[in-house]
Amino acid sequence: MITLPALPYAYDALEPFIDTETMHIHHSKHHQAYIDKLNAVLEKYDLLKKTPVENLLQRLKTFNMDEKDRTVIKNSGGGHINHAFFWTIMGPEKSIDKLLVERITHTFGSVDDFKKRFTDLAVNHFGSGWAWLVDNGNNELEMYTTPNQDSPYLSGHTPKISLDVWEHAYYLKYQNRRAEYVANWWNVLKLI
Ligand code: MN
Repeated sequence: MITLPALPYAYDALEPFIDTETMHIHHSKHHQAYIDKLNAVLEKYDLLKKTPVENLLQRLKTFNMDEKDRTVIKNSGGGHINHAFFWTIMGPEKSIDKLLVERITHTFGSVDDFKKRFTDLAVNHFGSGWAWLVDNGNNELEMYTTPNQDSPYLSGHTPKISLDVWEHAYYLKYQNRRAEYVANWWNVLKLI
C-alpha cells in the first residue's frame, strides 16, 4: 500500500510565495486522494502492488487489465508521483543542482532563457496540467506541458523540473492570476 510521503519542510516554509493553506490542502487532501484511488486499484493486482509507480506508468500499455483500471493508474498514479516529485524540488532555501544548471545552459543558452521559455509554456498551458523539463532518455533535455496528471514516465522520459498549473496549486492565493503564481514560484524552486 502506498502512503503519503511527508513534505520535506513545514507547510508554511514556502511563504510568502506559496501560502500555508494551499500547501496544506494540496498535500494532505489532493495528493492523498490520488494515493487512495491508486491503492484501491492496485489491491486487485498482486503482481503490480510492489512495482514502483514510475515503472507502472512506463509499462502501462503492456498490462493485461480492465481499461478503467488502466485509466486510474494513469491519472492517480501520475497524480501521486507528479506531486511526490514536485514537493522535493521546492524548498525555503536554494540547493543548486550544478550539473542541471550546466545542462540547462548548454541546451537553452542560459538559465534566464530557460526560465523565460518555461514560464511561457506554464502560463499558456490551457486548463489543468503540468509544465516539465525532462531528460528524454537520449541524455537530452526537453520541455513541454502535459494535460491533467499525465506523467513524462508514460513517454519514457524522466522529470528534472516540474510545475503544477492546476488551479488547486494556486487559486487560494492568486485566484486567476496564474502568471503571478509562476513568476513567484521560481523563488521556491531550489534546484536552479
Ligand atoms: Mn496539484
